[in-house]
Amino acid sequence: MTITSDLIAAGQQYYLPVYRPREVVLERGQGARVWDSEGREYIDLSAGIAVCGLGHNDPDLVAALTEQAGRLWHTSNVFYSEPPLRLAEELVSASRFASRVFLCNSGAEANEAAIKLVRKWATAQGRAPDRRVIVTFRGSFHGRTLATITATAQPKYQEGYEPLPGGFRYVDFNDLGQLGEAMAAGDVAAVLVEPIQGEGGVMPAADGFLGGVRELCDRHGALLVLDEIQCGMGRTGSLFAHWQEGITPDIVTLAKALGGGFPIGAMLAGPKVAEVMQFGAHGTTFGGNPLAAAVARVALRKLGSEQIAANVARQSQALRDGLASLEAEFGLFSEVRGRGLMLGAVLKPEYAGRAGEILDHAAAQGLLMLQAGPDVLRFVPALNISDEELAEGLLRLREALAKFKATVSES
Ligand SMILES: *Cc1c(COP(=O)(O)O)cnc(C)c1O
Repeated sequence: MTITSDLIAAGQQYYLPVYRPREVVLERGQGARVWDSEGREYIDLSAGIAVCGLGHNDPDLVAALTEQAGRLWHTSNVFYSEPPLRLAEELVSASRFASRVFLCNSGAEANEAAIKLVRKWATAQGRAPDRRVIVTFRGSFHGRTLATITATAQPKYQEGYEPLPGGFRYVDFNDLGQLGEAMAAGDVAAVLVEPIQGEGGVMPAADGFLGGVRELCDRHGALLVLDEIQCGMGRTGSLFAHWQEGITPDIVTLAKALGGGFPIGAMLAGPKVAEVMQFGAHGTTFGGNPLAAAVARVALRKLGSEQIAANVARQSQALRDGLASLEAEFGLFSEVRGRGLMLGAVLKPEYAGRAGEILDHAAAQGLLMLQAGPDVLRFVPALNISDEELAEGLLRLREALAKFKATVSES
């Protein structure tokens, strides 16, 4: 048995079988390229799952991590250390709205903190438990804890985990009329929304939708919570996706690209809610870890830079152009949607459900990419991807689509 097949066998034997990874063992990465244990090279248009915003092996992130690794790894939140203190200060200043930050380790924890903060805020306002409803949208994804799968308005994440926590209500995404009705009784404490639904199929909020949500929240005395865990950190062309809508949220959650690949999450709290949680109200052992925070400070500085914004605009156009010419050649897509370097190519109805097959062909051609549900190819590459890396990725995608198309015409 080769070492590779031995490793894969171990995964199949010892992991809780909740994942179905491709049979590839990745070993090292550089920029938007990775290599597997057999020495095969891949172009990476997935960046983990929109995590490695600066690609693999960014020298500044490596330096931040290794310098901190030689100083101090962990303090708990019983003591201060400098990296998370500075990171909190820098997040507040970069956010343009937040006054305080809670640091944690993942997206689900950031949303869990946001849900708890909404409940505490509503409680402080004297609202009874049945008047602390959080409205979320069908097709959303907010994490895998019990509360966040309940916030995630998709049955496939919830089935079998009942009883689910109460206090959530679901409406259709991009439907302000439904949202208005859902809030009319005055029992809604917050609306939680992704500016671009990621897992739900790379579905952007329609023009003016988030502004309309903000208005309804103001009218009905509810908080606006934005889940920017996937679409934030520069991915759509601005550090925060909601900047492009000209709205001010009350709470924003971040994770994924915040640590450039090192686990970290954050909940940013605006002035209306920043003083609600006091000593003992919430906490975490690992959150605000000095290693994670040292890396995230550098990721935040670099991902918020002009150069990254310019590269996102440039490569977004190149990717859209490339997908348009692949569409002209193969006729597989009904639509390419999204913003910046968060794009989804939607398969035509006759190819519905077959995104996974295309991903298999892509991997065979040396291309790593993602799907967002069974019908959407998702492109979330590193935000500093080069012209050459993207062009090579598109060449390999062309080969993959040709192979896929050939199997379709055979059958
Ligand atoms: C990935 C994701 C989460 C959950 O983050 P984890 O780090 O996996 O817990 C929550 N919301 C959105 C929008 C995400 O994309």
